[in-house]
Amino acid sequence: MSSKTETLKSGWGIQVVVPGPEHTFTLDEEALTALLLREDIKDRAVVIISVAGAFRKGKSFLLDFFLRYLQHKYVLGESGGEWIGVEDEPLEGFKWRGGSERETTGLLLWSQPFKATLANGEKVVIFLMDTQGTFDSQSTVRDNATVFALSTLISSVQIYNLSQNIEEDDLQHLQLFTDYGQLAQESSSGRPFQRLQFLVRDWSFPYDHPYGALGGQQLLKKRLQIHEGQHPELQNLREYVTRIFDEIACFLMPHPGLKVATNPDFNGKLADISPEFKDSLKQLLPMLLAPENLVPKLIEGQKVKAKDLLLYFKTYMKVFNGTELPEPRTILAATSEANNLSAVAEAREVYETLMEEICGGTRPYVQPRQLEEEHHRVMNKAIHAFDSKKKMGGKELADGYKAELEKELEELFEQLRSHNEAKNIYRMIGTPVVFATVAVL
Ligand code: GDP
Ligand code: MG
Repeated sequence: MSSKTETLKSGWGIQVVVPGPEHTFTLDEEALTALLLREDIKDRAVVIISVAGAFRKGKSFLLDFFLRYLQHKYVLGESGGEWIGVEDEPLEGFKWRGGSERETTGLLLWSQPFKATLANGEKVVIFLMDTQGTFDSQSTVRDNATVFALSTLISSVQIYNLSQNIEEDDLQHLQLFTDYGQLAQESSSGRPFQRLQFLVRDWSFPYDHPYGALGGQQLLKKRLQIHEGQHPELQNLREYVTRIFDEIACFLMPHPGLKVATNPDFNGKLADISPEFKDSLKQLLPMLLAPENLVPKLIEGQKVKAKDLLLYFKTYMKVFNGTELPEPRTILAATSEANNLSAVAEAREVYETLMEEICGGTRPYVQPRQLEEEHHRVMNKAIHAFDSKKKMGGKELADGYKAELEKELEELFEQLRSHNEAKNIYRMIGTPVVFATVAVL
């Protein structure tokens, strides 16, 4: 067995958003924290690639090829074109096929983050996100919409996986984002989302539009065209969807062959997949995953770090757990909140790091007046860090968070001050060890 499969074998899809009773969802905060706050990951900008769309349309199957590519390129560091694997190797990673067992809804992140370096030298981390929907029926429409909405908000690249064509219904699912995007643009600068990648599976009209990115672009242009006779709502949807994403693309995939589609014993091995499908994978994957094509997640024009992502997950989960899907205005408020919280966290980190150098556990006693001066100097730096981060929600909201931050830093200082005083006591009566000996005598 090759080392490639061994390494991927040790990973798994972590279910980070888990369905609960009555169409609620919970966040597996523990698992998410362990993943996102890893010391070597937490300060890197994130690239989050999600695949969303209806159930049983080959999303997880496709993601497992993404895993092969990422493993080859970023873990083994190989640059050749052989990432796709050998003919008889079963396809592993996110669970695909489903079979007859009941599927649950939710979001999964691959347990292994991939570290990459962009063309400009910036170090980022790539996360793969799989989404699961249920069979379409009235009771689950809401769950599916939640999963789709959450994954779109969280990802930097949303791959919208569709079967056979782009239909009007598929575009309608984007309505929430166009409404949200419209609001977000009114209150901030830049576009709220980065890349929307339509991916049409089993495209069967290659003579109208060829397989691949070019045919996809032609089809997309047609579907997003605004006609005079169209309902104003449909016109509005088309207009806005192109304005809220930095980039919208479409790729037409050929059918993978009958063994993939119908054989219950198919294990994903390349030998059973049509050559056209494999050729298309070889074109598509570098377009999404090569270093020069990686798209970092931006909020308010700023790169989101792994540690920030945790805040966004937590905040969004709160608003998506009501009885109705949240209004765009509520989502915007949640984004602004998380955005401000991330600025607070960054400022707190500045304060803690600098004060640690001055009066941390291993540092000697500092004269109270000097400590006070250092506190003011460092606090100014921390506040400056907060101020200089662009934030959504306007000055009023930011001022509230800033007041909280100042209060929190003063409290932190009180703790540091008493630790410092404790050092002074030891200093006057000797080391803690001597002190203990005296006490015993
Ligand atoms: P998911 O629910 O969207 O994640 O779908 P899965 O990845 O679990 O795949 C569901 C079924 O579709 C499996 O039996 C796959 O073999 C098959 N499949 C995968 N890709 C394609 C495709 O491009 N076209 C067709 N027709 N079937 C596919
Ligand atoms: Mg799946």
